[in-house]
Amino acid sequence: MLIKSIIDPQNKVWKSASLPEPTRVLDERIAWLVTDALKQVITQANGTGRPIANWCSDPRVAAKTGTTGNTNGRVNSAWVAGYSPDLVTIVYIGGDDYEQAIVAGSRDVGGGTLAGAVWGRFMGKAQQILPNTPEAPMPDGIIKLEICTSTGEKATFRCPDELRQEEYFLQEFAPEQSCSEHGGSWFQPGEGKPWWEILFPNLFKP
Ligand SMILES: [Zn+2]
Repeated sequence: MLIKSIIDPQNKVWKSASLPEPTRVLDERIAWLVTDALKQVITQANGTGRPIANWCSDPRVAAKTGTTGNTNGRVNSAWVAGYSPDLVTIVYIGGDDYEQAIVAGSRDVGGGTLAGAVWGRFMGKAQQILPNTPEAPMPDGIIKLEICTSTGEKATFRCPDELRQEEYFLQEFAPEQSCSEHGGSWFQPGEGKPWWEILFPNLFKP
């Protein structure tokens, strides 16, 4: 945690910290991909942070939810840690000793539903007075591909619509194989030639 300064309501500065020069600790591409993944926690229909969208419509926010002790409908703690380009906010709901249940007897609650309501309301209000800093642009070295979620390989035209999904990848780790479950071998036979040139080798000769 970083406290820059402590200021009272009369604007008197009681304590002030000198800030170190910022240094890069993470490849900017990794930071961008993690943010993209954590946005989906909120935006995807099955995301654990989906309830946040009811309170905060800012498309820049990204978050991770957490729940502990949720066996047999018992929840010991619920939390959300997340950020926008302007603000980092963490909400924790639970006892000091991590032992006491905050909810018992319900299966459908967790970090997203309990702490998410607090987090989303706070971020929604806070963004109204923050400077609305634009998001970092996508760095070079990331590519966008449509994949088949069944195999994680490149989608072919035979992959059903409900399994297709656009995802971002580090260039060096992007899948190269077409979906093996939905006809991938037809699109990528040996030698890198498309199937029609394998089946009809003379057809396209000049
Ligand atoms: Zn497929």
